[in-house]
Amino acid sequence: MTLHMDLTFTAAGLQATCQMALPKNESPALGFILNSALKIREIQCDGAPASWTEESEFAPLYRAASRRICVRTAQPAHALRVEYEGLPAGWCSGVSEDIRALNWYSVWFPQELPFPVEEDGVTLYGCADWVLLKGTYDAQNQTWHYGGQGYDPFNLVLYRKASLHCVSNDFITVSCADAQQAPLAEQIAASFAQTLAYYNGTLFPQKTWTPLDMASLCPLTPPGGAYKRKGLIVTTQFSDDPLQTAWLNAHELAHEWCTGAPTHTWEGWLNETTAEWAALLFAQASGQEALFSYILAQHDTPMSALPPIRTADGSRPEGVHDKGTLLLYEVYRRFSFETVQRLVQLFAALETKDTAHWLAAIREQVSPELAVWLAEQLDL
Ligand SMILES: [Zn+2]
Repeated sequence: MTLHMDLTFTAAGLQATCQMALPKNESPALGFILNSALKIREIQCDGAPASWTEESEFAPLYRAASRRICVRTAQPAHALRVEYEGLPAGWCSGVSEDIRALNWYSVWFPQELPFPVEEDGVTLYGCADWVLLKGTYDAQNQTWHYGGQGYDPFNLVLYRKASLHCVSNDFITVSCADAQQAPLAEQIAASFAQTLAYYNGTLFPQKTWTPLDMASLCPLTPPGGAYKRKGLIVTTQFSDDPLQTAWLNAHELAHEWCTGAPTHTWEGWLNETTAEWAALLFAQASGQEALFSYILAQHDTPMSALPPIRTADGSRPEGVHDKGTLLLYEVYRRFSFETVQRLVQLFAALETKDTAHWLAAIREQVSPELAVWLAEQLDL
């Protein structure tokens, strides 16, 4: 199916029109989810107004409160047009004078669609005075375009041009809209280049580097975390603590390689643990003892107080970042830096990214005893 969004920002949030083409649909019922703060104005199926029902609010995994919308038609519909408006609250989302941020977490566009999205795009209107990260500007129509490069759910970050501060080197462009944060962008770009020099070609096989974008949402959203998508790292703020900055950069950048295990199940521990350990290995390899201790200190809950990594129902347990990091710390203490480095490299190189394949690779290429020990630890 295809999914195209027309988007306009308003004083009250946003106005959006979503057009879906579903040529393979054979069902008279179509469903999707949308942030519950968004109010649907109209739905059309194959050009005719359609009626819909909205189920009660629920919290989809990692995302803002949403509602499931169900559209029923006499004949299976092949084109769906949904118009809605409102301000979708959500993590790393919001609209201010200087920043507009929307993402997968805020469910600002229809999700959990009946077919995989094969073609996608967002067109933004009324944003001539703004810069859209990862977007292209159409000067003739004064519109910004986003998407169309492999569906990577619409994570939009816009800065008002007059407020944008930005620093670039060969590896990254760092942007923010806060004058106090601007001097930190310089530090971040430099720390990023240093980390990348270790990852790309030393810890991991070298690849051609396409510069990333890093965006701070400060002061739009409260401080708390960061996320990485294709070519884009979004953080709630730049820290003025150089250790925090180095840690954040190293962890998020590591996800360029440490990724691919299913994030919605306990298997996601592999992405997080190996990314955190890539950061720890970087700290060690570059002689930054203080950074190594700083990162480890983020995981100070005793292992015994955390639930097992592997869950009976496959769900992702609480504290999986901490437990996995501490587990590999045990490997680091009992074996060596090189052993942990090998474990991280093996995960990054896996074709099928899951724990069973990772343990098999460890069994064959590192140590059968270590593979058995690790497998046991997952249930403790
Ligand atoms: Zn992470």
